Amino acid sequence: MNKIYLDNAATTPLSEEVIDAMVDTMKMNFGNPSSTHSFGQEAKILIENVRRQIADYLHVTPAEIIFTSCGTESNNMIIKSSVEHLGVERIISSPLEHKCVSESILDMKNRKGVEVNYIRPDEKGDIDLGRLEELLKGSDKKTLVSLMHANNEIGNLTDIKRVAELCRQYNALFHSDTVQTMAHMNLDFSEIMVDFASCSAHKFHGPKGIGFAFIRKATGLKGIITGGPQERSLRAGTENVAGIVGLGKALELSLTHMNDYKDHMQAIKDYAIEKLSAAIPGIKFNGRSSEKNNSLYTVLSALLPYKNPLIGLQLDMKGIAISQGSACSSGASKPSMVMMMVLTEDEMDACTPLRISFSHLTTKADIDSLTTALKEISENFVIEKTNVEHR
Ligand code: PLP
Repeated sequence: MNKIYLDNAATTPLSEEVIDAMVDTMKMNFGNPSSTHSFGQEAKILIENVRRQIADYLHVTPAEIIFTSCGTESNNMIIKSSVEHLGVERIISSPLEHKCVSESILDMKNRKGVEVNYIRPDEKGDIDLGRLEELLKGSDKKTLVSLMHANNEIGNLTDIKRVAELCRQYNALFHSDTVQTMAHMNLDFSEIMVDFASCSAHKFHGPKGIGFAFIRKATGLKGIITGGPQERSLRAGTENVAGIVGLGKALELSLTHMNDYKDHMQAIKDYAIEKLSAAIPGIKFNGRSSEKNNSLYTVLSALLPYKNPLIGLQLDMKGIAISQGSACSSGASKPSMVMMMVLTEDEMDACTPLRISFSHLTTKADIDSLTTALKEISENFVIEKTNVEHR
């Protein structure tokens, strides 16, 4: 069976060039970067080259890039260390955040007594920045704002430049989970004044197990993993040299081809909207997912007009890999928090969300196969449902 992969927001396949660069590093550069001999120093140079490459992309200094094991670790570190080391007493966030952010915040609330203010999004999944300003104005407590750049389930984009301006105006720190946008969009942190951001290489054809945190130097954030001088003592532990090299190669490829990849994926997304709308009467698209300017081009969140919790499995049996929510919640029977925010109760009872996510490797033929499979499942589902109702 020809398998089709439409779950690129969960993870992406590794590029051949990334694999080659990593294999070469593993073979040739096994030295410990903390060793002072030539083996160690060669590995260290590889790491510092990638750090500089990332800093150039983000328009920041290399010292502000801290390698971690993933987006989850970066977000945990930023939120927990802001409370433990920078005296943050209040966090403003939203229910749309990835669990690694929302559970870190909850942990700080439960263990450290941090006050948490959530901004409820509207039915389109938008965060009211007027409400953010009211909250920022309303307290003298040292505050961290944590709002993601692009939502991983519905693709909505937040105006993080404006959020950063508000945070500066009211003297709050600003963390943005940029895991879904790093290497997919141009990000200039000399203009977008976020204090903290996160990245995960496996979201842009790099390896799993490597990411980084952007930590603006002036914040003075400290690490939470101790026991060594690596990463300027902000993240102790021998570095994942091959992973860092893989991240660097994946970033290089993404930046080189960014415009072409973006045009390709946007065209695929438009095609999917057109095909699915024609094939499945009553289908809707969640949040700002079907809009060009307010939505990430890699993600399309659809809402099928019938309830079928087995749809992911049925598509998988037809060779199509797709997610019913984010990868982290797709095994759960409960609807995700994001869906609870953007769907009405009736829609939650009677409809099925599907997240279709693209890469530069996705083709129109993949979308045709998905459309045919969904049409078949939808028609059979309606026939079976009618038979049951008539029994
Ligand atoms: N934040 C967002 C928005 C994500 O989509 C993900 C992964 O799905 C993460 C954080 C976690 O990243 P990682 O898989 O590298 O831990």
